[in-house]
Amino acid sequence: MEVVAAYGLGNAVVTTDLATATVAALAPKDWRVEICDDRLTPADLDHDADVIGITGKVSQHERMVELADHFRSRGKLVVIGGPYASLDPDAVRDHCDILVRNEIEEIAAVLFAEIDAGTWKREYDGGKVDLSNSPVPRWDLYPRRGAMSGVVQTSRGCPFECEFCDVIAYVGRKQRHKPVGLVIGEIDNLYSLGYRAIFLADDNFTVYRRRAKELLTALRDWNRAHAPDRVLFSTQVSIDIARDDEMLELCAEAGLRNVFIGIETPNEESLRIAKKRQNIGVDIGNEVEKVLRKGIAVSAGIIVGFDGDGPDIFDIQAQFIEKLPVPFVTVSALVAPPQTPLYARLVKEGRIAKSDILKGADATPTVTNIIPKNMSYDELIAGLSRLCREVYAPATFERRMIRFMDAYGSRIKNPPPGPTPVPIGKGLGVLMERFSRIGPAEKNLFTRLLRQMSMYPRDIQMAARLQLTRYMQLRHMYDLSGLWPIEKPIPAVRSAKPIHQVN
Ligand code: SF4
Repeated sequence: MEVVAAYGLGNAVVTTDLATATVAALAPKDWRVEICDDRLTPADLDHDADVIGITGKVSQHERMVELADHFRSRGKLVVIGGPYASLDPDAVRDHCDILVRNEIEEIAAVLFAEIDAGTWKREYDGGKVDLSNSPVPRWDLYPRRGAMSGVVQTSRGCPFECEFCDVIAYVGRKQRHKPVGLVIGEIDNLYSLGYRAIFLADDNFTVYRRRAKELLTALRDWNRAHAPDRVLFSTQVSIDIARDDEMLELCAEAGLRNVFIGIETPNEESLRIAKKRQNIGVDIGNEVEKVLRKGIAVSAGIIVGFDGDGPDIFDIQAQFIEKLPVPFVTVSALVAPPQTPLYARLVKEGRIAKSDILKGADATPTVTNIIPKNMSYDELIAGLSRLCREVYAPATFERRMIRFMDAYGSRIKNPPPGPTPVPIGKGLGVLMERFSRIGPAEKNLFTRLLRQMSMYPRDIQMAARLQLTRYMQLRHMYDLSGLWPIEKPIPAVRSAKPIHQVN
């Protein structure tokens, strides 16, 4: 889930955008290239560029089309590519001069040469590329102010077959790997630009055990060589990581501090229908604790609206989430992106609500295009809205925070002999002020959690502090989407330096 305008720090995004920086690296050397991340700074509609390239995800399609139409009306040559263009080419074909489907790396030289010569075609298909040909992204051109962490992609694809997953529809189930040397080169580049937090933008980072261990060993050695100014990594994995203790240990040693896991639902019938087989018959709470004990925090994805879900699913999920040692949980409605097996099935069953209804799906959990099977659409939206508010009610969040701090980093040695107050620097002071703007219950939550955090070692305090930041981001997002208004508006504050350097 993309969190935009993070807790009022002006326009901000959690991660930099890899697609634009990669395309910039593929452009001919004699082209003047500028990158615009429209999430951070709205596109300059009067720009004098000859060629406008546009990329985006399914949830960004409306803005992509709007920009494309505008620049074409000004006589610019508009090229559209990326995930949405590949998943639903019919939706963008008429809005661009050149459509690029699938991965661009291996056709970029021909594409740019033909644009230069004026002999370009209406459509190109890059297929699936060999990642050993990946260029180092042009982060030097990227507007970094406002991005909280850099991005490196070490693989594409995932061998699982979750029915709703557009990743495998776009990049495939055969996972392809970037050579370790190239990965380290990209990390060196981001490090030299000042990044100390890097998201490894893989679809499933650890699913190929041997390869993951080889890469983690290299990351561990790299990070050791950069001590004490080390990089903190985050990524996405599947729950089966918890079965491999050696892998977890290597992740911790390499500096992996956060993983996102698609937990989805405790309803096994829904898991079966969705073909999320890796989660069936697993004691999720127990497996998550194994990850936490290594000092790796977990963020969990939860989905409601599967075909096995009836109107009781909201209470079932609330009770399930309550017991998880996971403060940050993204709760959302099941969505069927174009080209997924779920989309095809629901089209056949007449259960796709509207083709253009996914606008804002990144930032609004109640946005969906499905018609649920065992409840009405209105029941789904009302139940989900209630669930979101229950999951982030101050008392519920506080209980999950305590579970988290109890489980997190039990490998961390030498707990303090008595309470160790959490140092209130400028960052925590701003956070405290933001909590009090949400409402009195949230202000009390913050105060109580600070007191409880003082009972834990410093490393756990730092990890807990990040969870507080995420709570603020999430409530801010719920406010923006109208799901749960906050009491007093949070003013935007421009950071004096790139957010990834603020601690
Ligand atoms: S585990 Fe994640 S990336 Fe892999 S198929 Fe399932 S949803 Fe997609």
